[in-house]
Amino acid sequence: MDKRVVHRQAELREELETANVGLVPTMGALHEGHLALIRRSVSDNERTVVSLFINPTQFNNPADLAAYPRDLDRDLARAAEAGADLIYAPDVPEVYPDGFATSVEVAGLTDKWDGTARPGHFKGVATVVTILLNSVRPARSYFGEKDFQQLVVVRRLHRDLALPGEIVGCPTVRDEDGLALSSRNARLSPDERKAAATIPRVLTQMVELAASGERRSSKLLQVGNLALFDELLVTCDYLAIVDPENLEPVEVVSPGSRALIAARVGPVRLIDNMELLPST
Ligand code: AMP
Repeated sequence: MDKRVVHRQAELREELETANVGLVPTMGALHEGHLALIRRSVSDNERTVVSLFINPTQFNNPADLAAYPRDLDRDLARAAEAGADLIYAPDVPEVYPDGFATSVEVAGLTDKWDGTARPGHFKGVATVVTILLNSVRPARSYFGEKDFQQLVVVRRLHRDLALPGEIVGCPTVRDEDGLALSSRNARLSPDERKAAATIPRVLTQMVELAASGERRSSKLLQVGNLALFDELLVTCDYLAIVDPENLEPVEVVSPGSRALIAARVGPVRLIDNMELLPST
């Protein structure tokens, strides 16, 4: 009999991890941002599973769910090109069987920023991530920093519920003008698309100001809000500077502090974020 004793959850999981599987959860409509996550997983793991599931419970707006782009054949080809070994594309009853009655809520972290603008959104995300991680039991799961609040929520959820494997955050992939890649960008008119580049420009301006020594959030936010105000096609929902772990606003910027933004451009709501000072 094997007499090895482990005392910590992390050691237990390590012992039990049989295959070295990486999981990249997505809602499809794959772009270079998703492909970067897949490539990272391919380089870290023996096998990479990409899930394609448009999760209905995370949409608080039915029109947004209906308008979500769907093209399974294209997604399969792109995922394979990036090196994915397996696609998991369940239908809704497979994930939420008849009589489904359980949901997961991450208190505190989800009642602010996008949680306020999109009631129920993070409950849907937390629930589906729990289901996916328990279904696949990956050694590592990959999430983009693009959805920073989501990444923070997932990290907390993963820790609190002792979900399998490790959560890996990956940098935001951007277009040439800095706009973070998103399936929603395709819904912008040419003028709106041009105006949307204000969002990363404002964040970059704040990063540069912080790098040059400005540490007062009030000052950085003032500069950011003024620049946003100048762009008539962009309506800011929130611009905030927060602690990267609890997402509470900070008055003084320190290493790791994040600027978060949500803004509406025409019919589309875009989110973005940047680290203001490098975390050591
Ligand atoms: P989604 O399909 O929008 O749910 O996104 C699936 C995953 O891809 C999430 O972890 C996102 O954070 C990540 N993602 C989306 N856009 C980007 C991007 N531009 N750069 C990096 N990761 C991204």
